[in-house]
Amino acid sequence: MKLILLGAPGAGKGTVAKILTAIDGSVQISTGDILRGAVQAGTELGKEAEAYMKRGDLVPDSLIMGIMGKRLQEPDCQKGFLLDGFPRTIPQAEALKALLAKLNISLDMAVNIEVPRETILDRLCTRRTCENPQCQAIYNVKSSPPKQEGICDKCGSAVIQRDDETEEAISHRLATYNEKTAPLIGFYEKEGLLKTVSGTSSDVVVNELKSAFGL
Ligand code: ADP
Ligand code: ZN
Repeated sequence: MKLILLGAPGAGKGTVAKILTAIDGSVQISTGDILRGAVQAGTELGKEAEAYMKRGDLVPDSLIMGIMGKRLQEPDCQKGFLLDGFPRTIPQAEALKALLAKLNISLDMAVNIEVPRETILDRLCTRRTCENPQCQAIYNVKSSPPKQEGICDKCGSAVIQRDDETEEAISHRLATYNEKTAPLIGFYEKEGLLKTVSGTSSDVVVNELKSAFGL
């Protein structure tokens, strides 16, 4: 499947993407994961992106399109891809449309994952992430903690609270989402690609998508 996952930070895009890719062999492409990996590795890209991310601001569109222009041409994308956290602005959506047309790729749908604001706030404050850039497994101190406190079940690295998961950065990320990313819902509706799925549990979202794709 070739999907865009839309939804506020904490809506469960990453969780849904991980489950679906395990089912159908498509790849999850998370611009947030790519950027955090670059910051940890100290690459040029990481240095440019770091300050924006720490504040909860979006990284400039030109940097993101530089990443995605290359990423979507890698061979593993042929089986399908789930875009998690991209596009985030109307200019990114326009640029993606042009890029896909050039590569002769057509999207199946843009899925808008709708989750109540209280759920989102609660999830973001209690979310923890594996600090290993190759893993980035997601935990929740309340609902799905690692078996051993502070240690990733999958790879044994430390499980930490992200720098942009302070209360201040979280409320800034949500405001940025409303201002810059929520307009994409209208954009994809006009394109005839929008599917909205509501649910506080990622399983509900996954099941709806599985049945939409006959999986
Ligand atoms: P979340 O969805 O939980 O906010 P992400 O992991 O998707 O987190 O993104 C973390 C940060 O990385 C964002 O706050 C932003 O600074 C940057 N980022 C990720 N994707 C994009 C994008 N498509 N455009 C601009 N900035 C991005
Ligand atoms: Zn891990």
